Amino acid sequence: MEVVCASCGEKFIRNPRSPNQSYCSKKECQRMRKSLWQKSRMKKDSTYRNNQRLSWKEWARQHPGYWKEYRKKHPDKTRRNSMMQTIRNRRRRRPELIAKMDALEMPRIKPSGTYYLVPMIAKMDALKVNIFEIAGSWP
Ligand SMILES: [Zn+2]
Repeated sequence: MEVVCASCGEKFIRNPRSPNQSYCSKKECQRMRKSLWQKSRMKKDSTYRNNQRLSWKEWARQHPGYWKEYRKKHPDKTRRNSMMQTIRNRRRRRPELIAKMDALEMPRIKPSGTYYLVPMIAKMDALKVNIFEIAGSWP
């Protein structure tokens, strides 16, 4: 039976042995499927979550300096991660204050540059955007 891939949107033929298959066999679509599966598993299965944590810790122990090097090589991603963590921490501590704090920080934003649009809905990813001033539109 021909179905539409949930990732790339292209049509593909289901493997007769997986009647619920909703992702085609392309590498990036399988990666997306696995990543979503893992995200949902991490959310609802505490045993899986703890095992993952232990295995990440063990991996980091066997690769000393990896994250330090990663942060040096990817300052942009490091900055984004640290910002996302700040937002997660804020949400956890005083969710009712988010709107107020964001409003207070507004004057620090310059009209042009690269920004992350961070949705207030926790499940959504941040969107990296460029913002350009339209001449004469900034007060
Ligand atoms: Zn696909």
